[in-house]
Amino acid sequence: MNVRETNYWLETVSAAAESSHDALPESADVAIVGAGFCGLSAARALAKRGVRVAVLEAETLGWGASSRNGGMVLTGMKLPVPTLISRYGREAVQRMYAASLESIDLVEQIVKEEGIECAFSRCGHLEVACKAAHFNDYEKAAARIQREFGHQLRIIHKSKLRQEIGSDIYFGGLVDETSAGVNPAQYVAGLAKAAQRAGACLYEHARVLAVNPESSNATRRFRLTTARGSLTAREVLLASGAYTSSATPALRKKVIPIGSYIIATEVLSADLALELIPRNRMIYDSKHFLYYYRLTPDNRMLFGGRAAFFPESPSTIRESAELLRQGMIQVYPQLRDTKVEFVWGGTLDFTFDVMPHSGTIDGMPFAVGFAGHGVAAATWMGAKLAAVICGEPDNNPFSKIPFPGAPIGLRSGSTWALPLAGMYYRVLDFFT
Ligand SMILES: Cc1cc2nc3c(=O)[nH]c(=O)nc-3n(C[C@H](O)[C@H](O)[C@H](O)COP(=O)(O)OP(=O)(O)OC[C@H]3O[C@@H](n4cnc5c(N)ncnc54)[C@H](O)[C@@H]3O)c2cc1C
Repeated sequence: MNVRETNYWLETVSAAAESSHDALPESADVAIVGAGFCGLSAARALAKRGVRVAVLEAETLGWGASSRNGGMVLTGMKLPVPTLISRYGREAVQRMYAASLESIDLVEQIVKEEGIECAFSRCGHLEVACKAAHFNDYEKAAARIQREFGHQLRIIHKSKLRQEIGSDIYFGGLVDETSAGVNPAQYVAGLAKAAQRAGACLYEHARVLAVNPESSNATRRFRLTTARGSLTAREVLLASGAYTSSATPALRKKVIPIGSYIIATEVLSADLALELIPRNRMIYDSKHFLYYYRLTPDNRMLFGGRAAFFPESPSTIRESAELLRQGMIQVYPQLRDTKVEFVWGGTLDFTFDVMPHSGTIDGMPFAVGFAGHGVAAATWMGAKLAAVICGEPDNNPFSKIPFPGAPIGLRSGSTWALPLAGMYYRVLDFFT
């Protein structure tokens, strides 16, 4: 297979935001570590309030998960609602669910307000059941979500599934019309430009190597040492996601980096694209090690999965092209002779309780743990953190929940035990 090992989405970005070539300022009100959805959304919101912001990005703007993902702008959270309610109580979960819906509205609002051309569309998502038992659970889940949150999902029986997907391997589906799709690389590039227009200074190749508290005249500040020099800041906002490094060890210990991979085919004919995903939904299946797929705006099949309990590397990316192609043709035998043109990988930010979290760690505001919901959730969390830094009350339902770290021995800098966790979920997929 002659496949380009490069992120297809980046090929569609015509004018990326320009990093500042100036030396770092001596000081900023807020220094933000990481220029993904979270950091840039926070930077935009802070700069619009007149705060002096410096965004420090180790690589290039949007380099992390934000430009590499599936572009699915999804409702809800990773865990099932009954699990969430038994953990956090009904009222808290109602606020979390409302936040998940609000976060999609926020992405839509930013795209409109800032005139970002990123093919944002409220096309809805479809979850497909890999087993009959999974489909049986959909009915209960939809009824519970309607009852608890007044949010309507639609059950699709197997006999009607062809209206939603050109595949016969599934046992039924669940549609949520509120979800959306976007070109993530165009969106994050647009967000960077919006933050810059609002007055934020963006610095690429400025990896933060250390953050140390300083105090003078009883005023607390932080000194950040970066690959481009150092600066001080009153507040440091950590938006480094799955790529969180040893510069902020307390946060790093709480993040599980999970590699995930995507292929994109050649452009399909309009008829074939319509047969495969007639309503242009964002689709994912019901397994723990799930496949997620969609059409790109130019009608390629974008097919992702193959999650692994370690970050991506050149060799895992190369292997993924054929493995994902096999997965794709199990779902869509129609694509047997279709060329795969692109393969790439990225790292997702999971946490030990599979929840998003925000709050303060070592005196620094942070948000992390968006997993497969980060397009909307990271945008929303960034804006919320900005509001709190500006003195607004913290009404974020994810900032009040306990944030567990790694069980002893599982991850204290090394990742030796995580493949065992991977095996556990594969076994679960087999039996449940
Ligand atoms: C393959 C893949 C598919 C996905 N699909 C979806 C999807 O369809 N829908 C969805 O909602 N979510 C999806 N996600 C998840 C989503 O992309 C992330 O949750 C989201 O992008 C996280 O945004 P962020 O701003 O927190 O982090 P990131 O976008 O990862 O940005 C963090 C940035 O911090 C920088 N950084 C780290 N350490 C330092 C340092 N010391 N100094 C300076 N900079 C630093 C990194 O270079 C990076 O650019 C997917 C992720 C992957 C990898």
